[in-house]
Amino acid sequence: MADSNQIHNCVIIGSGPAGYTAAVYASRANLSPVLFTGPEPGGQLMITTDVENYPGYPEGVMGPQMMEDFKKQAERFGTVIHMEMISKVDFSGPVHKIWTEAGQEVHAHTIIISTGASAKWLGLESEKRLTNKGVSACAVCDGFFFRGMEVAVVGGGDTAAEEAQYLAKLCPKVHLLVRRDEMRASKIMQQRVLNTENIEVHWNTTTEEILGEEEVEGMRIKNSQTGEVKDVPVKGFFVAIGHKPNTSIFKDWLDMDETGYLKTVPGRSLTNIEGVFASGDAQDNIYRQAVTAAGTGCMAALDAERYLTEKEIV
Ligand code: NDP
Repeated sequence: MADSNQIHNCVIIGSGPAGYTAAVYASRANLSPVLFTGPEPGGQLMITTDVENYPGYPEGVMGPQMMEDFKKQAERFGTVIHMEMISKVDFSGPVHKIWTEAGQEVHAHTIIISTGASAKWLGLESEKRLTNKGVSACAVCDGFFFRGMEVAVVGGGDTAAEEAQYLAKLCPKVHLLVRRDEMRASKIMQQRVLNTENIEVHWNTTTEEILGEEEVEGMRIKNSQTGEVKDVPVKGFFVAIGHKPNTSIFKDWLDMDETGYLKTVPGRSLTNIEGVFASGDAQDNIYRQAVTAAGTGCMAALDAERYLTEKEIV
């Protein structure tokens, strides 16, 4: 790592599609960006198998391979990549300060945050074991693999409602498991779910176990009112109980909504702090796609470049 007196033009935190795209743009603009990968280099796509909806890969691509391609492209133009996590930031001055977990202090004129979000999971051992073998946290990403099959979605929010409807177009039957006797989703989304013939809502229902050894074969569910436990055969099990943006280290500095998504100027990547830009799932709780994350990573790099030019730093 360079000495801590050096002020980098641009530091990127995070290594999903947003971070690496920001790195490609920033390095091609001669900003000599430095990227810190964070604890899960490559981000959420590293736990995905086939990616079939990213433009440019007509045959699809494995998530980890795609992230390796992103990384190579960022390195090709000179991005310096550190496999380290940033654990503290100080955005109080015109030069931004960040610290790696190992305690190294790093200074930068601009910071691009692309720390992503993590899906919340139920916490079952079988869920972990069968992830990517029928268990998924993204219907838009993985639903296609289950077309023609019976599937389940867990959750009662807008995401679960949306995923259930998405899957209902591909699958003959979708079981929606709601842990209370009502859904948190907006009324209109609830109505759509209830009006969709091939979605069966199981109220007051929790998941005891996801069944199957090599792949998902079913689920053991429990009605918390009656105590009844039953096994239902399904091939896909989609967990849609919310995401958590990885933004806790920024809470003293940046505006965020009540769940921690960073707020940016509409249509831009600018945060409330000059020279700090946000991209990808850390600031997007609506689309959450690799391609949209890449798009906002590009925006953040262009915004950073513009900022550095206006301040006559580059
Ligand atoms: P939410 O936090 O809104 O909902 C999470 C749901 O999962 C709740 O129904 C919750 O139950 C349930 N849940 C949580 N933990 C468990 C568990 N361990 N077991 C079973 N169920 C559990 O998350 P969403 O991802 O649905 O939405 C996040 C935000 O994004 C919201 O503001 C939403 O409105 C927005 N959004 C908007 C969309 C749109 O407008 N098109 C689409 C998708 C999201 P309980 O209610 O009992 O707490």
